[in-house]
Amino acid sequence: MTTTEVENFPGFPDGITGPDLMDKMRKQAERWGAELYQEDVEFIDVTTSPFTIRSTDREVKCHSVIIATGATAKRLNLPREEEFWSRGISACAICDGASPLFKGQVLAVVGGGDTATEEALYLTKYARHVHLLVRRDQLRASKAMQDRVINNPNVTVHFNTETVDVVSNSKGQMSGVSIRNIDSGEESVLDVKGLFYGIGHSPNSELLAGQVELDSSGYVLVKEGTAETSVQGVFAAGDVQDHEWRQAVTAAGTGCVAALSVERYLASNNLLVEFHQVFSIHFL
Ligand SMILES: Cc1cc2nc3c(=O)[nH]c(=O)nc-3n(C[C@H](O)[C@H](O)[C@H](O)COP(=O)(O)OP(=O)(O)OC[C@H]3O[C@@H](n4cnc5c(N)ncnc54)[C@H](O)[C@@H]3O)c2cc1C
Repeated sequence: MTTTEVENFPGFPDGITGPDLMDKMRKQAERWGAELYQEDVEFIDVTTSPFTIRSTDREVKCHSVIIATGATAKRLNLPREEEFWSRGISACAICDGASPLFKGQVLAVVGGGDTATEEALYLTKYARHVHLLVRRDQLRASKAMQDRVINNPNVTVHFNTETVDVVSNSKGQMSGVSIRNIDSGEESVLDVKGLFYGIGHSPNSELLAGQVELDSSGYVLVKEGTAETSVQGVFAAGDVQDHEWRQAVTAAGTGCVAALSVERYLASNNLLVEFHQVFSIHFL
């Protein structure tokens, strides 16, 4: 998780940082016997059982695997993008829209599809005004979303508009976005304190290509309401199989479904090796 402040994960009324949340989850998993290795997996073969998972440091054979490699937000690669990532630029309105950095400010959203229009509408709950920057001369979003955006007085849609870069003030804070009209080539600056990318995500599913059924965008296909993929014993959880909700809590929820599914799958195939915790006994 690259998220810094997570304000909407249940059980943390004051919010928690992404790294702290992961640290707590890691400790909890280890307390129950999980062994964690932090290394890049470079090769997966689920065409023959047992499956092979090879990382930079080891090769593991297993009868079941959960794919939870997430999805990466697509970026525009603006010249100053790195400098302002998480300091004005965000790829998640639901996650960041209510944060003090953006609340009550004028903001911009880039994109013309359902994600961008949904982000723009969501941001109107907290922002003073939202500019939607659309490269084409029309929106790709569903008709219903188009109507909602066009008819919302708190959203201004800029068609034929290319996002050029982020502009900062003398304190180094984001103060605007420079834009170019595609027809006239004319450049101008929109005074906004935040820029939200609504241009989609790329699921990290390359290692499974050709082995497990993926949708046209590369998301792992799971049977509705389950974590089951097209290959028996291979389960998927989190953003790599979810192009819609993409929240930490939904990832954790599908992770739970996947973990219980693995247990059920192994048990029904007589492959389950049970882990029993060793409790220390204290004599008084
Ligand atoms: C800027 C930002 C802010 C966000 N804020 C919030 C928020 O406030 N609240 C909220 O609920 N959600 C938030 N989200 C969304 C949330 O982070 C995701 O929905 C959630 O982390 C998805 O969990 P995941 O486990 O599916 O994927 P991830 O958390 O992305 O984890 C996938 C993991 O797999 C690893 N991986 C990928 N490929 C390999 C490989 N080949 N080998 C080994 N490891 C690999 C990655 O390194 C990563 O650690 C935010 C997202 C972003 C980008």
